[in-house]
Amino acid sequence: MKSEVYYFTARTFSHKESLSRFKGPLALEKIGFNNKVNNGDKVVIKTHFGALENTRYLRPCYIRFLCDHVKNLGGVPYVAESCGWGAPEEVTGIHTEYSGRSAEDEYLNTAKMHGFTNETMGAELLMLDGRVGENIIKQSIKGKRFNEVLVAGRLKEFDHMVLASHFKGHAGAGFGGALKNLGIGCVSKGGKVQAHMGKKFEFDFNAPISDYEACLKICPTNALREGPDGKLIRDEEKCRYCYMCKSVCKNNVIDTGSSTQKEFITQMVDNAAGVVDYFGKDKIFYLNYVIDVTWQCDCTGGSDIPFVSDIGILSSLDPVAVDQSAVDLIHLSKMNPHSILGNIGNISKETANDWLSYIPRFDSETNEMDLNPDGKESRHWEIQLNVAEELGLGTRDYNLIEVKIEGKK
Ligand code: SF4
Repeated sequence: MKSEVYYFTARTFSHKESLSRFKGPLALEKIGFNNKVNNGDKVVIKTHFGALENTRYLRPCYIRFLCDHVKNLGGVPYVAESCGWGAPEEVTGIHTEYSGRSAEDEYLNTAKMHGFTNETMGAELLMLDGRVGENIIKQSIKGKRFNEVLVAGRLKEFDHMVLASHFKGHAGAGFGGALKNLGIGCVSKGGKVQAHMGKKFEFDFNAPISDYEACLKICPTNALREGPDGKLIRDEEKCRYCYMCKSVCKNNVIDTGSSTQKEFITQMVDNAAGVVDYFGKDKIFYLNYVIDVTWQCDCTGGSDIPFVSDIGILSSLDPVAVDQSAVDLIHLSKMNPHSILGNIGNISKETANDWLSYIPRFDSETNEMDLNPDGKESRHWEIQLNVAEELGLGTRDYNLIEVKIEGKK
């Protein structure tokens, strides 16, 4: 059966047709959100606050108007994110492409710099997995690669979730939209590591404890300690899988393995299935803001010129359909010759094309970014849609219902 996806164009002719105040809430109304929210219901709006130097994340006003809409319905809105991979910069002293998101303090500070505060949202901002990713729920699933997922623990506090995703490209996953906001955004800090690397987490218990000095210091739960023989002891019961010990380990005594690009994408979708299983399929409402469509994710500092024009908002109860429809509308668009696609040779640039097949991609074998100057096709963006469909998260088959309010009095 086809899923329904509502489409609101990014074109506007007056303030009464804005994507922020009007089309966002209307997109929620179309998928039955207004009838689901009862007085006093807690509604979490999950979005992304952007890596420190990123400038293409969703503008705060889009989320603010969603918060106001929840309040108008009698609900109580919250705006949420979750801790990013790695250890805080104040500990490592190293500034990276992904800085500013590794712990609650650090990320809320970045959020503030990006315009997201309790005051600007009119709602409480929070990290779904706690101060350093320690707040987790272990959800059993029948995934392709995982049978357990580290869901962000504070999700249990909410009655409904609005997944407000910035839809754009992604060098690893092919694109980032609803599925990625579930499978990376709604799992804990450790859930993100497991999506990227897999479940391997091995310690060299024969190594001297001095090799673990930084790891012992950063562990938030004292799961690591020195044994009577001067060797490491790890208390698995206490471990919250934040992987910060690995992030500060300089001695190669902790092994988290690696994953191919296909394994990463599959693991990300397994995570998404765990989040939906835990939270409840009927309680999640998907909004894809298909604007500022760069080839980079919000989780990097890079914010290149968008490679297609703004498209608009898509809403659905189906995360697969809402992502598939965004992909299709991007592929039906003309490319921006001043964007990265203008640098890529050997591809047709005149009309529509499967643009996501040509954007730069991360090569997990060489650990390097391939800017794809020769225009090699790679349909890795399709993997997440196929895996999600196979796991029963939704369908790639949809009816696109365009809602036109532009120019109406
Ligand atoms: S042992 Fe490592 S992964 Fe586990 S809680 Fe401590 S720092 Fe985090």
